[in-house]
Amino acid sequence: MGTRIGIDLGGTKIELVVLDAGGQERWRRRVPTPQGDYAGTLRAIAALVEEAEHRTGASARVGIGTPGSPSPRDGRIRNANSTCLNGQPLQQDLEALLRRPLRLANDANCLAMSEAADGAGAGARTVFAAILGTGVGGGIVVDGRLLVGANAVAGEWGHNPLPLPAADDLPLPACYCGRAGCIETYLSGPGLAADHLRHGGEPVDAASIARRAAAGERASQASLERYEARLARALAGVINLLDPEVIVLGGGLSQVARLYQNVPRLWPAHVFSDTVCTRLLPARHGDASGVRGAAWLWPPE
Ligand SMILES: [Zn+2]
Repeated sequence: MGTRIGIDLGGTKIELVVLDAGGQERWRRRVPTPQGDYAGTLRAIAALVEEAEHRTGASARVGIGTPGSPSPRDGRIRNANSTCLNGQPLQQDLEALLRRPLRLANDANCLAMSEAADGAGAGARTVFAAILGTGVGGGIVVDGRLLVGANAVAGEWGHNPLPLPAADDLPLPACYCGRAGCIETYLSGPGLAADHLRHGGEPVDAASIARRAAAGERASQASLERYEARLARALAGVINLLDPEVIVLGGGLSQVARLYQNVPRLWPAHVFSDTVCTRLLPARHGDASGVRGAAWLWPPE
């Protein structure tokens, strides 16, 4: 009883974890995602579930995290950067293939679920989780429940405009969504790298900028200072609206340790409160948060 399977469907890999009722991992496997092949992706997921249940001897409830999200209009996936998923009734197709009801959520929502359940946000009533990676997404959990929203975009702050653009932030970068100056265009890994280049830095990726800054390179340090100032303003908007007890960061940039000291120090200038006790923490389960959160879409019992 209580066995749950979580699946993280990513652009490059599909990962599966089996959790028991207590949240302990029983089995895990990762396979490459069939590229641009929707039918192949369905088959790969079904084969993984079959193997997991064979290995653990348990039939399980299945949750799945995907890029993009199901449209509340017809359940078809939209906004996915793995574009072969867009327009497909992923949940319906998998339910038919696996012969059981399935729970499906956006990958940032899975991060929020995982970290609220038994991660950095455990015990907090309101948790905001943000992915700072190839893209920028977010998810909200209140009292252990995912907030989905009327349009199923709750937490999607990445395509809000960056608050209070300063001279350093101009001209507003164009975003793939058709707008300009979206938070994602500054706070994603590619966004940081592009900003570094615009300000005279070398053409290196976000991880290299963080490494160079730690080694004392001035241009990389300046880029991280701009990044922290923008992250502080963007998260202050979340605090004024949602006032979470904990903000959890996931994605590649969540590994930059200095963010957790420097960003909260900048909050008092932007948050409408005489004190800011919101905690900013890295995801406890790291890369595994997505797959664990997908399993947590089902309650333990
Ligand atoms: Zn955008």
